[in-house]
Amino acid sequence: MKANVIEDLCIGCESCADICPDVFEMRDELAVCRFDEDIPEEFEDACREAAESCPVEAIEIEE
Ligand code: SF4
Repeated sequence: MKANVIEDLCIGCESCADICPDVFEMRDELAVCRFDEDIPEEFEDACREAAESCPVEAIEIEE
C-alpha cells in the first residue's frame, strides 16, 4: 500500500500526523508521507484511518 499527500489540498491541520505519526509527518506546515514506496504492513490500518480523517481528502491511498 502506498500513500501520498496532495500538497495543494493539505491545510496543515496535523490530524494525519497525530493519528499515524509512523507514516505522516509535518514539514513546513504541510503533511508528507515518510515512505516513497510501500508502507510497512503494521502501519496500514492507522494510515487508512488517517486518510479518512483528513478534512480535505488530501491523502491518496493506493492499495
Ligand atoms: S489530515 Fe489532511 S489536511 Fe490535515 S495535515 Fe494531514 S493531509 Fe493535511
